[in-house]
Amino acid sequence: MTATLVWLRRDLRLADQPALLAAVERGAPVVPVFVHAPEEEAPWQPGAASNWWLHHSLARLSEALERRGSRLILRRGPTLETLRELVQETGADAVFWNRLYEPAVIRRDRQIKRRLRESGLRVESFNAALLHEPWCIRSGSGDPYRVFSPFWKSCRQAGIDGTPLPEPEALPAPPTAAARPGAAPWPGSESLDALGLLPELRWDAGLDRTWTPGEAGAHRRLHDFLENSAERYHRLRDLPGQPGTSRLSPHLHFGEISPRQIVRALRDAGLDPDSGSAEPFLREIGWREFAHHLLFHFPHTTEAPLNPRFEAFPWRESERDLRAWQQGRTGIPIVDASMRELWQTGWMHNRSRMIVASLLTKNLRMHWLHGARWFWDTLVDADLASNTLGWQWTAGSGADAAPYFRIFNPVLQGERFDPDGRYVRRYVPELERVPASAIHTPRGGRGRAADPALALGYPPPIVDLRESRQAALEAFRRLPTPG
Ligand code: FAD
Repeated sequence: MTATLVWLRRDLRLADQPALLAAVERGAPVVPVFVHAPEEEAPWQPGAASNWWLHHSLARLSEALERRGSRLILRRGPTLETLRELVQETGADAVFWNRLYEPAVIRRDRQIKRRLRESGLRVESFNAALLHEPWCIRSGSGDPYRVFSPFWKSCRQAGIDGTPLPEPEALPAPPTAAARPGAAPWPGSESLDALGLLPELRWDAGLDRTWTPGEAGAHRRLHDFLENSAERYHRLRDLPGQPGTSRLSPHLHFGEISPRQIVRALRDAGLDPDSGSAEPFLREIGWREFAHHLLFHFPHTTEAPLNPRFEAFPWRESERDLRAWQQGRTGIPIVDASMRELWQTGWMHNRSRMIVASLLTKNLRMHWLHGARWFWDTLVDADLASNTLGWQWTAGSGADAAPYFRIFNPVLQGERFDPDGRYVRRYVPELERVPASAIHTPRGGRGRAADPALALGYPPPIVDLRESRQAALEAFRRLPTPG
C-alpha cells in the first residue's frame, strides 16, 4: 500500500483545493502535512500577526480534517528532510502541493521538487491561489506587464470564470495498525502549541475579537459581504469608518478561500462582474493578481525600487518619527486612527494604508521599507506581493505608481473620507469630544481656532504638512533623471 503526502502551506482549505483533490483521486491513502520552517522564507519570515492567524487557521483545518476521518500532521522543518522522513514513515510514493510565488519560497520549492523526483517520487504542484499564474499573462511583446489596466484587461480576456473544484467526498486515511497489521499507521505529529505561533505576551485579544480564521470563517465573511455591502461597494469602499469592503484579505492570503470561489459567489449572488459594484470589487482582486505578477517577474522589488531612479533618493532617518508613526502618536488624527486600527485589529483599511504610507514616505521622507516591515509584523493579511506593491506604489517607485509629486494631504483626506470623524473617534479616544467640524484639525488650522481643552492628551503634529511637502518635492526634483 502506498500513500500521497499533501504538503499544505497557504492553501488551508478543503474545497477548491487542487492538490488535495488530486491526491484523493489517486485512490491511495492521503496524509495532509504542514511543515513549520519559517527561516526558509527569510528575509521575510512571517511576522507576529501572521503567526497568530496561522495558529488558528491550522487548528480549524485540523478539526475539519478530523471530522472527515483524516488528520493534519504537524512537523517542524527543515522541509526537505522532514518530507523525506514522512515518506519513509508512511511509505508514500507521491508528494503534492499548491504553488506559492515569493522569491525565497520558489527557490526552495524548486529544489525540493527536484530532489524528491530524483529519489523516485511522483511530485506534482498546482495553482490554488490565483486566477492566472504570473507567467500565464504576458503583454503583446511577450514582456511582463508594469501597468495595471492592460494587465487586468488581459486577465479578463483570458477568462476569470474557472469552476471551483468540489470538496473531496471522503479522505482516504492510512489503515490503522489494528485494521492491517504491519501497515504504516498515521505518522506522529507535533502539537500545534509546540510550533510556538501564538505571542508570549498575549497582546492578541483585539485580533480574537475581530477575526474568525479558517475556511468556515472565510465563507461567513464572504456571505456577510455579499448580503450587506457588495451592492454598495463602489460608494463605501473608500470610507474607513464604514464596513464597506470585504475584509477577505487575510483569508485570501492563507488560502482559506480562493479568488475563483469569490468570482463564482458574486455570480451566484446575481452580481454582474462587468458592472455595478462587482466590477470595482473584482478589479481589487485583479490588483492582488497584479501584485503576484510583479513579484514573480521583478523579485528584487521586495527590497529595491522598481524604478531605479529612486535608488538615489535621500531618505531621512528618525527613530523618534518612526516610533510616533508606529504608535499612532503623530498628532494627525486620520493617521493615528489608522495606525491604532492596525495595532488593535491586525488590519487597516486600504484608504488608510495609502494615507499612512504617504505620510511616512513623503512628509517624513522615510524609506518605504521601514513601513513595509512594520506592516509585515502587524498585519494579519501581511502578504509579500501586495505589501511590496502597496508600499512601492505609494512611495512612487513601483509599477503604475502614484506619481511622486501627488502627495496626500492627510487632513483633506480625513475631511473627505471620514467627514463625521466616526473612524477617528473609534480609535483615538482623546478626540472623542472634538466636534466633527474640527476632528481632523483639533489644534486649529485651516481658518479654525483650537480648543485645547477638547483634545487633552493628544499630541501636536510631528511634522508641518506644507513645509514637508515642499521638502519632499525638492528632494524628488534633485534626483538624477533617467538616461
Ligand atoms: P476589498 O476592497 O474587499 O478587496 C478584495 C480583495 O482584493 C482583498 O481582500 C485583497 O485580497 C485584494 N485587494 C484589494 N485591494 C488591493 C490592493 N491595493 N493591492 C492588492 N490586492 C488588493 N493587501 C494585502 O492583502 N496584504 C498586504 O500586506 C497589503 N499591504 C498593503 C500596503 C500598502 C501600503 C497598501 C497601500 C496596500 C496594501 N494592501 C495589502 C492592499 C489593500 O490595502 C488590502 O488588500 C485591502 O485593504 C484588504 O481589505 P479588503 O479585504 O476589505 O479589500
